[in-house]
Amino acid sequence: ITANAASQYDPSADAWNVGYIHAIGMYALYDGYIVKVYDAGGDILWDAEACDMKACSMVMEGIAGRMRAKYPYSHGKFTTQDIPMLQNGRNIGMVSVGYYSPYFFDDDDFLFLDALNTVLAGSGILSLLLAAVMGWILARNVSDPIRKTVDAAKRMSAGDYETRIEDRSDVRELDELTASVNSLALSIRRQEDLRKQLTADVAHELRTPLTTIGTHIEAIMEGVWEPTKERLASCYDEILRIGRLVLDMENLAKVESGDLKLDMTPVNLAELAETTIHNFETQIRAKRLNVSAEGSCGPVTADRDRMSQVFVNLISNAVKYTSEGGIIKVVFSETDEAVFFDVSDDGEGISADDLPFIFERFYRADKSRGRATGGSGIGLAVVRSITSAHGGAVEVESSPGCGSRFRVKLPKTA
Ligand code: ADP
Repeated sequence: ITANAASQYDPSADAWNVGYIHAIGMYALYDGYIVKVYDAGGDILWDAEACDMKACSMVMEGIAGRMRAKYPYSHGKFTTQDIPMLQNGRNIGMVSVGYYSPYFFDDDDFLFLDALNTVLAGSGILSLLLAAVMGWILARNVSDPIRKTVDAAKRMSAGDYETRIEDRSDVRELDELTASVNSLALSIRRQEDLRKQLTADVAHELRTPLTTIGTHIEAIMEGVWEPTKERLASCYDEILRIGRLVLDMENLAKVESGDLKLDMTPVNLAELAETTIHNFETQIRAKRLNVSAEGSCGPVTADRDRMSQVFVNLISNAVKYTSEGGIIKVVFSETDEAVFFDVSDDGEGISADDLPFIFERFYRADKSRGRATGGSGIGLAVVRSITSAHGGAVEVESSPGCGSRFRVKLPKTA
């Protein structure tokens, strides 16, 4: 206001353009400022109150009324401020501006503030509602699967191992949790099945030879049979069968109990394989199998007797499950860290359904076949326990009709 008023002075004519100053003053009045303009001599050039007293009082009352209504504690009042007018550094007069202090808002400002407050309050309420809805959805997404998992775990602890959680959630960690509980249920059920199977198997394995021995001895005692050498030999064979089964179980218990003491010495695996193949000469000949060992590897530090057991179990399986004229190969290879040997055959193979379980104890792919071949389903469990006790691993590839390949990996520095 002051600068505009100052620019209305013409120094060459020492005259003021009072018409413009009037316009400036009236505009200022409608903005809420009561202006008085003085020249350098202190004479009044223009005075808003003198010009339109009624408008001035209306403006001031309007502002004061609105401010007191909206901000009752602002304690505002009208003040006047004198501001000198300068032109090129020369004092050419003074403007006295009266206004509602310390601040005031006009109608437009109030409208703007009201609109702003409405928008802020509205968006605040909307955000709260949105957050509440989102929170509810999220909480439900998380708590639902957790509740179902807890229910499933309770059912499992009550002995229901068939229970599965089918629902999928959008949270990866929860999916992992439900998947773990599902696989836990599966493995508990498998263990349970194996436990039942074990009891059934042991009972069956023992019953057959015991019945044979019992009936033979009974017949001999009652004088129905003569105690001939053949009859006694047949009883003895059955006793040996029971002994083998008990030994297998003992071996497994020892290997699986974890207190297996390994007698580590440098072992030539190729030589062990040759010896084992040699020991199976009778069965190999009977089935006219083609058995060979290929490749080589340096000596490894291992327990010789236990490794020999690994070869015996793998090669005897290959011999058992390969039909006449089949081919069996033991192939050695090595890397910087480990040695490998594969025992492969072109026998009957193992179905994909059985493959994941054949290393479980007492698991036989074909129950009747296993019994017919004299297997008790312990051999591969022993192989796995021995290799892992050496820090190694055993894996299998097989498909029905195409043979099987068992690969054993042993670290060089066990
Ligand atoms: P088993 O004493 O019955 O042979 P194992 O633990 O050695 O017990 O083997 C478990 C099952 O794995 C066997 O019953 C057989 O069905 C299957 N299996 C093992 N080796 C072979 C193989 N080379 N070819 C086909 N099936 C095999």
